[in-house]
Amino acid sequence: MQSDFSQNFTFQNAAIRGQWINLELVYQKVVSQQPYPVLLKQLLAEFLLGTALLLGLSKEEGKVSLQFQSDSDLEMVTMQANSNFQLRGLLQWQGAFESPEAIQKALQRGMMVINYFPNHTAQHFQSIVDIKGGSVPLAMKHYFEQSEQRDTEIFIAADENKVVGLLLQRMPSGKSQDEKTYQEIVQLAQTVKPEELLEHTPAKMLSLLFSEHDIKLQLPKAFTFGCNSGDKRFDQALFAMARGEVNELLEEKGEVVVTCDFCGKKTVYHEEDIKRILDEN
Ligand SMILES: [Zn+2]
Repeated sequence: MQSDFSQNFTFQNAAIRGQWINLELVYQKVVSQQPYPVLLKQLLAEFLLGTALLLGLSKEEGKVSLQFQSDSDLEMVTMQANSNFQLRGLLQWQGAFESPEAIQKALQRGMMVINYFPNHTAQHFQSIVDIKGGSVPLAMKHYFEQSEQRDTEIFIAADENKVVGLLLQRMPSGKSQDEKTYQEIVQLAQTVKPEELLEHTPAKMLSLLFSEHDIKLQLPKAFTFGCNSGDKRFDQALFAMARGEVNELLEEKGEVVVTCDFCGKKTVYHEEDIKRILDEN
């Protein structure tokens, strides 16, 4: 069984589709980059899963980013995915975040921004998402309902090692029976416990939950952790931002070591590398 994947499915008896996402190695890699408080790991899991859902539902090749900014102690969240199914992300925060209420309040003081960057155009598409409810799954649900005009439900469960998400969506069909079936299915899904989502494979969980329904699972697509910190454009952007600091470090140590916040990769730049990068910039 794969550890990191997205798997779509459809109900054979109604115009309802779903997506199951399971992230283990990617989640562990992302969460191990910073000494996150336990509750922030849970929040990070939700943001990461939300980003995977965005990618899974996007219709075009390209990149997608999910960001959150606020004036609270949860300063920033940055999540990115591309159509090679690579994910990365991080949170920037201060303080201990010891209660779910602290997280909820911080979320309510900020806003979520979703960007799509399709490969075929230089344009990008931005949506500002209301997160006043203080919940990432709820904000994602509202985003999909608005942008796709489809009833959507999202369930997310996470522990220390893994995060699992289940999305259900009613497709346009014009049949009133489908609406009834959808409501039935959502009610069944609402009975699922987080530990069940974490324990079962999608095939097993869906057959347990929706035993009366015939479900067709598509082949899973694998997610991996991916970071472009070795990428040349990344270096240029980095040095363009902090020339003064770069020159100071060079004088002091003869080299500059840059650590990527996303993946922990250390890159050593010697004077000639930096000269070349700055010249090219
Ligand atoms: Zn990196």
